[in-house]
Amino acid sequence: MRTKLALICGVAALAGAGSPAAANDVRDAVTQDMPELMDLYRDLHANPELSFQEVETAAKLAKRARDLGFEVTEGVGKTGVVAVMRNGEGPVVMLRADMDGLPLVEKTGLPFASKRTAVPASGVETGVMHACGHDTHMTAWIGTAQVLAESKDQWQGTLVMILQPAEEIGEGALAMLEDGLYERFPKPDYVLGFHDAAQFPAGMIGYSPGYALANVDSVDITVPGIGGHGAYPHTTKDPVVLASAIVMKLQTLVSRESSPLDPAVVTVGSFRAGYKHNIISDEAKLQLTVRSYSDESRQLLLDGIKRIVKGEAIAAGMPDEKMPTVTVQVPYTPSTYNTPEFTEEVMAGLKSRFGDDRVMQVPSVMGGEDFGQFYRADPENVESLIFWVGGVPADDFAKAQAGEMELPSLHSPFWAPDAEKVIATASEAMIAATLDIMAPQTGG
Ligand SMILES: [Zn+2]
Ligand SMILES: [Zn+2]
Repeated sequence: MRTKLALICGVAALAGAGSPAAANDVRDAVTQDMPELMDLYRDLHANPELSFQEVETAAKLAKRARDLGFEVTEGVGKTGVVAVMRNGEGPVVMLRADMDGLPLVEKTGLPFASKRTAVPASGVETGVMHACGHDTHMTAWIGTAQVLAESKDQWQGTLVMILQPAEEIGEGALAMLEDGLYERFPKPDYVLGFHDAAQFPAGMIGYSPGYALANVDSVDITVPGIGGHGAYPHTTKDPVVLASAIVMKLQTLVSRESSPLDPAVVTVGSFRAGYKHNIISDEAKLQLTVRSYSDESRQLLLDGIKRIVKGEAIAAGMPDEKMPTVTVQVPYTPSTYNTPEFTEEVMAGLKSRFGDDRVMQVPSVMGGEDFGQFYRADPENVESLIFWVGGVPADDFAKAQAGEMELPSLHSPFWAPDAEKVIATASEAMIAATLDIMAPQTGG
């Protein structure tokens, strides 16, 4: 509660001051750092590492944080980094960037495109690319750390800056928490992060109060059958027909069981069975992605999947020992919740800094992010916000608006954001938001 009041006072103080000078100070400091930050960005972009393999990346950035005066601990949650700067009484603010690249061969044609290869968990060597823009996140993290380290007279409290591994496989945030992030280091009152966005123009800030990203569950269904000759179906139990019935019936979960006002997705992304035209297979396998926001709707969907699978198998006359199995992968990626009041307070500050045309409320998405874990670890006491920073180069955005170009999405081998805009905007926004929250308390 105390910190909440401190925040409101901090925002009020800043808004009251109107402080254009302070606004320009932050922007000027970032602008000055940009040439060097872009060198770092190009280096990170050319040298991506896969989830939980972010060894060089972590070492490089840990050294820089140490040079800035942070107490730095490496190897938190395998390859994670925690950098702490204590600066008197006040709130604990945690700023997070994620570090991992994706198993993709880069096709941007940029002069600093990645030529790296690596071996992911699948065991098959692949190209590696920062196709989700985590390189912009890390560069802005350093940009933020530099300015905050240089302006300790303007904030009070404890700054905890973390570099999280393995966001792409949804495990890194949990790995850091399970390795004692909230016990071994100061536990945050406020958690902030951003993600670059491939649907917004470069330099735009988008935010969604409340649920911003979805629960993501991966579900595997194995449907046994009794195989045989395709010409004698009556002597078999055909798993293709049964699995097809399951796929169709699953469509009713969203259309008939979950509330029309509560977003939900059940997608069967993979359906595999059979060998040949005239053989009835003895097995079918389905792979689903299941998306929701609340714990309740997640449970409704997962329970519904199990019930439908069992019900359809019974209806098909499957014997008890050949019932299909449903496996829900653990850990899952929980939804990301932006605590509404905190979100509005931070965004009010950013709107006055960047203007209403650059800071906009945008619809939530059904994509996933494990950033939500930091809030879920202590929802009573943690205020949390992740926002979007648009990355689409202005020319491309105009062409797309005119229908002359299809924009690449995140995770595309062609995703080449206007990194300079993303990094400058995100650094300024992060610094400004942190200074708001950690504003020194004068008087009562
Ligand atoms: Zn991603
Ligand atoms: Zn990402």
